[in-house]
Amino acid sequence: MESNFSTKDAYLNHFSPRTYLQTYYTFGPSASKENQILMHVLRKLSETFSLGRVKGDLLIDIGTGPTIHQLLSVCESFKEIVATDYTDQNRKEVIQWLKKEPGAFDWSPVVKYVCELEGDREKWPEKEEKLRERVKQVLKCDVTQSQPLGPVSLPQADCLLTTYCLEAACEDLSTYQQALKNLNSLLKPGGFLVLLSVLKSKFYMIGDERFSCLSLTQEEIEAALKKAGFVSEQSEIIPLHYSKAYTDNEGILYLVGRKPNTSMGIQGQSHSSF
Ligand code: SAH
Repeated sequence: MESNFSTKDAYLNHFSPRTYLQTYYTFGPSASKENQILMHVLRKLSETFSLGRVKGDLLIDIGTGPTIHQLLSVCESFKEIVATDYTDQNRKEVIQWLKKEPGAFDWSPVVKYVCELEGDREKWPEKEEKLRERVKQVLKCDVTQSQPLGPVSLPQADCLLTTYCLEAACEDLSTYQQALKNLNSLLKPGGFLVLLSVLKSKFYMIGDERFSCLSLTQEEIEAALKKAGFVSEQSEIIPLHYSKAYTDNEGILYLVGRKPNTSMGIQGQSHSSF
């Protein structure tokens, strides 16, 4: 049976970076659902990254999309960041901001908010520069491939971050689980996986374009993660939903997991604590 799930070509041909940014990431004083969620997500990321629990040399962000907000706290604790996405137009949008090209999206309200969370709102120009300096590459990526970054060879990362990508890229649970396995190969033993996912959502809108989403529960994501060889260390639901006109999610999952060290893996098998 033919599936109606959005194809990779649909992403290439119909995903408008600007409309996506304007819909979900226009940050301002309004108490819109989108703003509330963004603030919440930024707080979670700041707790994870700027407080220093998760740090290292290399972080790979999988399915960066046209956004950089998810990297604002990361750049305080990782020396090198690699951004990735399937579509050319999203990689271009990110590069436009990194290179300060004319017409780039204005992230400064979001950057100011993160700086405020981290203690000094006035440091936002320095943070923008730091992030621009730390993002070393913007690569093509396809999470459905066993080598998601294709022939590009990178050292295994200390952390993988992925926000709202896998549920958009995978049409069923087995593809989702396989995608997590594919990502696992990019991570060092002992490395972290930070994952943000909408819950129970079947679609999201970008202007008039409807994109599919794999409807997932917290339990399904945790089980897929475990099968793909990760151990969940923190898994919490942000009990918020986006505007109903944009998407039909019921909450958002924020999860920090880990790829066990080989020795941790053996322990994990003999003790059933994980
Ligand atoms: N991380 C951003 C964007 C999420 S939108 C955020 O938090 O808002 C979903 C993203 O997944 C899009 O940028 C889309 O191009 C990307 N995507 C879709 N299929 C993919 C695939 N097979 N491999 C990698 N990325 C994919």
